[in-house]
Amino acid sequence: MLTNREPTETDGLKQFLVQCEGCSFEHAADDRDEAMAIGTDHQRETRHEVVALEVPPALRRA
Ligand SMILES: [Zn+2]
Repeated sequence: MLTNREPTETDGLKQFLVQCEGCSFEHAADDRDEAMAIGTDHQRETRHEVVALEVPPALRRA
């Protein structure tokens, strides 16, 4: 059986990393909404392509 792991509201541990494909802009966000806001902001200012990556909690302990 396939287990399709979808993001749930219950684990608030996910972090997002907003990266720009047009410059070296990079910003961490605590949730999807914040990531979207940051990305939209940068995109509006610069017209760059911005992507938001999900960062697994395990990778946060750098
Ligand atoms: Zn940029």
